[in-house]
Amino acid sequence: SACPIHQDIPEYVQLVGEGRYGEALSVIYEKNALPAITSHICDHQCQLHCTRMDYEGAVKIRDMKRIAVERGFADYLQLWEGATEKTEYRAAVIGAGPGGLSAAYFLSRAGFDTTVYEREESAGGVVRHVIPGFRLPVEAIESDVEFIKAHGVEFHFGVDTKKLTVETLKKQGFTHIFYAIGSEIDNELTLVGDRTRVITSLDFLGQFRKDPSKCTLGKHVVIVGGGNTAMDGARAALRIPGVEHVSVIYRRTRAEMPADHEEFENARAEGAEFIYLANPEGFEGNMLTVRKMVLGEKDASGRRRPIPSDETFTIRADTMITAIGEKVDGKIFSWYGVPLNEKGWAITDAKSKASAIDGVYVIGDAQSGPSTVVRCIASARDAVEDAIDRILEAEGVEIDEDEEHIHDEEDQPIEELVAEEDEYFGELELRKSRILFSKLFGEQGFARREADRCMECSYICNKCVDVCPNRANVPIDLRNTGLFDNPFQILHLDAFCNECGNCETFCPYDGGPYKKKFTLFSRRDDFENSTNSGFLVEDGTILIRVDGRLYPCELDKDGVLVGEEEGLSDEVAAIVEEVFASYSYLLGEVEE
Ligand code: SF4
Ligand code: SF4
Ligand code: SF4
Repeated sequence: SACPIHQDIPEYVQLVGEGRYGEALSVIYEKNALPAITSHICDHQCQLHCTRMDYEGAVKIRDMKRIAVERGFADYLQLWEGATEKTEYRAAVIGAGPGGLSAAYFLSRAGFDTTVYEREESAGGVVRHVIPGFRLPVEAIESDVEFIKAHGVEFHFGVDTKKLTVETLKKQGFTHIFYAIGSEIDNELTLVGDRTRVITSLDFLGQFRKDPSKCTLGKHVVIVGGGNTAMDGARAALRIPGVEHVSVIYRRTRAEMPADHEEFENARAEGAEFIYLANPEGFEGNMLTVRKMVLGEKDASGRRRPIPSDETFTIRADTMITAIGEKVDGKIFSWYGVPLNEKGWAITDAKSKASAIDGVYVIGDAQSGPSTVVRCIASARDAVEDAIDRILEAEGVEIDEDEEHIHDEEDQPIEELVAEEDEYFGELELRKSRILFSKLFGEQGFARREADRCMECSYICNKCVDVCPNRANVPIDLRNTGLFDNPFQILHLDAFCNECGNCETFCPYDGGPYKKKFTLFSRRDDFENSTNSGFLVEDGTILIRVDGRLYPCELDKDGVLVGEEEGLSDEVAAIVEEVFASYSYLLGEVEE
């Protein structure tokens, strides 16, 4: 899914729509340590991948989360079982930014006796000290922090965190250490001439957040960069008394700009001017010399590389604010005693965030470089899950990877369930074609309408079925098997596909259905020329291929696969058997 923390979006969207805000918040809290903060500033990748986007616009998922947080907290507290009893495991978290706060939440929830050490006098890190208040109200930060405190987490502020080496903390009895110190070193811009009126975005936004009246920028301000921090810088500068004009200079074009569309539009609407394909080179007096750029070949980031042209121009600037990204201070980790790689970064496992020392983790921006709040939450959760898994493993407890997917068996007969679901899926299909109005007004009306628009794609997507001009993707109903989380599995029909890629464009998940979905082949040469997993029926033999391995099989009189099916998963066998049982019309010959 597009959401880095895999929030159960359709579930909470429906609950908010029904006015069950506390329950919605309970669903959100399951995977999200910072719902109030993310309800304001999450970069909402989910919305950009929402299936509804291709109808009349994405479901406003982030706003639904905000409604759940604002209206549901009191109810949620009634549902909350209270802080988890502490175990003998003690965790130290260094840094109270989004990564550190999230680690503290997940750790305390799992029973770790957790202490957070923070250099500043309050929690929040970049979201409190850098992101402007007009984008994220301080109350949202407070609300998330207070709830983490309610889990029994101890906070120490104003701490000299440099002293918190692995050795010191282990001596203090901490069994687990999580470094969440962010990425704080500004990338430096190459510039000739006067640098006295060049400030970094972190310094400017930090001062703006603390006391905007202390910021003096002059009349003409130039921001260099194209990310959300540049947009924040531009919007903050426009609020400083005396500033008359703010330009944002970016090396590439709007198409390559990393800033969220929404943040870009906000900056533009508030009066920032954008100058593309431009890179500052020199600063003298009040004039900035800017080099015109052109776009070359794509670089490692997949964006076209900016190349200097022969032309320059000048613009007026009293202050220049650089927003060209930050990097991690690798040296600090060697000071902490965390082993570094040859590039000078802390050695960590990409998935678990575990360092080379047992029980020591590096999380959030400190591990990945500058990212987003929601990615920091995901990073913290990965690390805490790894710590828990290792403890359970050491204690000899078997880990069930699928635990959270297991549901109690229903007593209801399967036919009844299928009939109910048919009705429900029919309703979901209808939502695709209906323009939905709600009789309720205001926020409740908004919530009801958004919930009605949500097509609950995690249960039934079928988008690749709808968008294929050749009908080359078919949903196979496998509800009777009880083997799949998703009741319908897509079967791709190789003979009908002309590889137009349409389904890949529209699929809300990674990868193209026409390359990844289990495929029915009608001809041997097509089967041999493809690497898709799938099957070919030839002279009574069902030749099944899964991840390159072949399983020649046939069906017995009861329609069950027999032959060399050893090693074949139940799921694959179920798809093939169901195609023969209920979709045999797909098995006919095709013309050359
Ligand atoms: S389930 Fe589908 S329609 Fe609903 S929010 Fe997710 S992507 Fe959008
Ligand atoms: S790539 Fe194939 S399956 Fe996908 S939309 Fe095009 S024809 Fe259909
Ligand atoms: S493969 Fe098809 S059904 Fe599955 S998520 Fe992608 S578009 Fe939806």
